[in-house]
Amino acid sequence: MRLVHLSLTNFRNFARLELDFPQPITLLQGGNAQGKTNLLEAIYYLATSRSPRATAEREVVNWLAFDEPLPFARLVADVVRDGSSLRLEITLVQRANQGGNTPRFSKQIRINGVKKRALDLVGCLPVVLFLPRDIRLVTGSPSGRRRYLNASLCQIDAAYCRSLAEYDRVLTQRNALLRELRERGGGGAQQLRFWDERLVTLGSRLTVRRAALAAALDEEARKQHRELSAGRERLRLRYESGITDRLPSLGQQLALDLEGIAESPSLDIEQVAALFQRGLDALRGREIAAGMSLLGPHRDDLGFLSEGRALRAYGSRGQQRTAALALKLAEVTVMSRELGEPPLLLLDDVMSELDEARRRALLALLSSAPQAIVTATDWEDFSPAFRGQARQLQVVEGRIGEVV
Ligand code: ATP
Ligand code: MG
Repeated sequence: MRLVHLSLTNFRNFARLELDFPQPITLLQGGNAQGKTNLLEAIYYLATSRSPRATAEREVVNWLAFDEPLPFARLVADVVRDGSSLRLEITLVQRANQGGNTPRFSKQIRINGVKKRALDLVGCLPVVLFLPRDIRLVTGSPSGRRRYLNASLCQIDAAYCRSLAEYDRVLTQRNALLRELRERGGGGAQQLRFWDERLVTLGSRLTVRRAALAAALDEEARKQHRELSAGRERLRLRYESGITDRLPSLGQQLALDLEGIAESPSLDIEQVAALFQRGLDALRGREIAAGMSLLGPHRDDLGFLSEGRALRAYGSRGQQRTAALALKLAEVTVMSRELGEPPLLLLDDVMSELDEARRRALLALLSSAPQAIVTATDWEDFSPAFRGQARQLQVVEGRIGEVV
């Protein structure tokens, strides 16, 4: 799988961009606020149908485009996969004005010219994005970690992605019903049972898949971390599920695992479903009082532990940064294994803040990757030998040129 060409129209500060990727490694240098992150954001957007940072589609549309009668933005990636070429396309068009001052945009997705859903796009161009703020995966809120697990899994498992979309719909409906039951009091048991069943079926699938990914990431991240910390510390990742953490025997198994005695247990879907339902039965009154669903993968988390202690609470900044890097390196390995080929690596200005050992780990990864796009503010982040192998580009105010 290779990204061979990118074409942008009115995306962020790129009014127009046509860019080829003829070499495995592309280095993009630029000062602050020139468009480095914007370029990687565009590729990530085409890969996942989502921006890693924008909260509304309109944010990515070039400001100048708003002066045009029909503001729009277009992103196109030409990808070669298994010998055949694939054209991925996202167009953002302004919706007819529905009152209010903020223009809203709708997203149209095409693959080889044919209209598709976001679900179909995700996975066509598998990517792993490294950002300086990856440390937030360790320090930030559980919702960020859930988003991370979902984004990774959607790229490697289309069935997961479909279940996730359906689960979100069921959750919304169930929450609406719980609120209604709270307002009107009594009754509704029949209806609730219907939504419980859907929630349990889909939620168990998500839980089992996420726990398996967490176990795979744990194994790889542990190795990476050992290298990065010169064997001084032990990192463990653990999927923390409100459903399975209720099962005492499994809890014990996980505790054993943390001691490094047993391998990570794989969860049995029937067992998870039974526990999930039992949990919902026990929480019924509280869920109605709260008017929302209190149990399920939408409340779960991925725990980072060093020597058995939560890194989020007890880790130093350096320890947290190392854990985040180990996680991302592990993600690349796990994704490569699951996909049968390595993903495209996108590294946004992450070299400058790493020490020598961590830089070496990242450079080793880059050298073995079939394709990587790396941004930096300083060329000095890379050795002349490394730069020599790469295509060197420079970005100035949304214009990209070759460095000769
Ligand atoms: P840094 O080194 O500081 O991270 P960068 O090169 O990564 O800089 P970008 O985040 O890519 O910078 O942003 C480049 C410029 O794009 C910024 O000046 C930003 O204000 C501008 N920008 C962001 N959104 C839009 C938009 N919708 N339209 C036009 N310009 C935008
Ligand atoms: Mg940037």
